[in-house]
Amino acid sequence: MKPVLVVGAGPVGMTAALFLAKAGVPSVILEKATGRQQQGSRSICVQRDVLEILERIGVGQAVADAGVTWYTGRTYYRDREVLTLTFPEAEGFPPFVNTPQTVVEQLLEERVRQEPLIELRYGHALESLTQDDEGVSTKDLQASHCIAADGVHSTVRQLLNIPFEGLSFDDRFIIADVRVDLDFETPERRFYFDPPWNPGRQVLLHPQPNGVWRIDWQVAEDVELTDDRIRAIVGDKPYEVVWQSTYRFHQRRAGTFRKGRILLAGDAAHVMSPFGARGLNSGICDADNAAWKIAADRNGEAGPNLLDSYDAERGRAADENLRITGDTMRFLVPGNEEERIHRQKALESGEGIDSGKPFTPSTYENSPLTTDGGELVPNSRTAGPGFQIRDGRLIRPDGHVAARRCDDRVKRRALGW
Ligand SMILES: Cc1cc2nc3c(=O)[nH]c(=O)nc-3n(C[C@H](O)[C@H](O)[C@H](O)COP(=O)(O)OP(=O)(O)OC[C@H]3O[C@@H](n4cnc5c(N)ncnc54)[C@H](O)[C@@H]3O)c2cc1C
Repeated sequence: MKPVLVVGAGPVGMTAALFLAKAGVPSVILEKATGRQQQGSRSICVQRDVLEILERIGVGQAVADAGVTWYTGRTYYRDREVLTLTFPEAEGFPPFVNTPQTVVEQLLEERVRQEPLIELRYGHALESLTQDDEGVSTKDLQASHCIAADGVHSTVRQLLNIPFEGLSFDDRFIIADVRVDLDFETPERRFYFDPPWNPGRQVLLHPQPNGVWRIDWQVAEDVELTDDRIRAIVGDKPYEVVWQSTYRFHQRRAGTFRKGRILLAGDAAHVMSPFGARGLNSGICDADNAAWKIAADRNGEAGPNLLDSYDAERGRAADENLRITGDTMRFLVPGNEEERIHRQKALESGEGIDSGKPFTPSTYENSPLTTDGGELVPNSRTAGPGFQIRDGRLIRPDGHVAARRCDDRVKRRALGW
């Protein structure tokens, strides 16, 4: 049986391979790095629905246990608190858990290594690939399909000549993981507009496990991370900088997420500013969506258009994420006088402040797998023999509800799973 080729052993590639294995589909993951990078947090904020998705492949609880749970986000303007958002506790996973991406990747890799249907090959950079009606080929591998999860500079996307349009922001951010014992009673997200210790710009503080704080400073072009800058936040407490990086944000998406038997997922398909935690979270949703559709296609259970619905559903999800993160970036870094006035009024009144809208999964309205009113009925162009209707919902061949957010709570309710 030909495997599925997964390019990239980042969080999205490993999640996709685990979902394929869950559907009984073998895969080979090609990863150009020679081993896992263990440094730095990168993505830290995993959202509830995404934890539920990860739990279906056996890692959601472990990711939640390894992180810091938070319920409240506070926003300050100068020395005043102007907005407080508290997310309700509910059954199941908490609304957000801050688990560094390095830890998420480690947990995913442990699961990958337990899975006989997945072969993970480090030190294998994909350099070329071709496809025809029978499958996808590289120089030494024949596969039925490919999931390209090879990150923002995706080789696969470039080999397929798929444009990656959008924009890049000029503003620079310093991002650091700082171990320090701050006097906050509960772990919370704190966002500071124009604080006295970073005048005219922003600072974001996020708790991480083991007494580490993720601090993001918006800075001018020539500014470096100095002791003074950190001391302005931590006072005279002892601290240790565990990791630091400087960053510019990009808002871009691939022109299409599907070409034949190849689906682009994660950063290979879209990149966005991290305010709102939409990068990794939406990449995990891509992996779930891509894997079940490929599994159905391999089993002859998909109609001719099921793979195309990946582009429709995940493309629109990316558009929504890009619109929301774009609004946030315009608020954080106003591009013209009108935006500056709007921001100033919002900060002074406390109304309409946008320091990042927390991720929620796409609801897939107007997906080709649904019809008017969001009711799930099979679309004759896509539904194949494995699909069933139950309680007015379209159930896909692997037993999950098709095309109804990535929100597994809905799926579990429908299926008692
Ligand atoms: C500073 C920062 C903060 C962030 N904060 C958040 C956050 O709070 N929440 C959130 O949801 N997201 C956040 N993100 C985004 C998140 O890190 C990315 O969205 C995520 O890493 C995407 O995962 P991926 O698997 O698609 O790509 P990657 O993690 O980039 O993995 C791609 C993999 O493909 C491999 N590869 C590349 N080319 C090839 C090739 N030719 N052949 C084989 N292998 C190849 C690479 O070596 C890599 O291992 C943040 C990102 C940054 C940089």
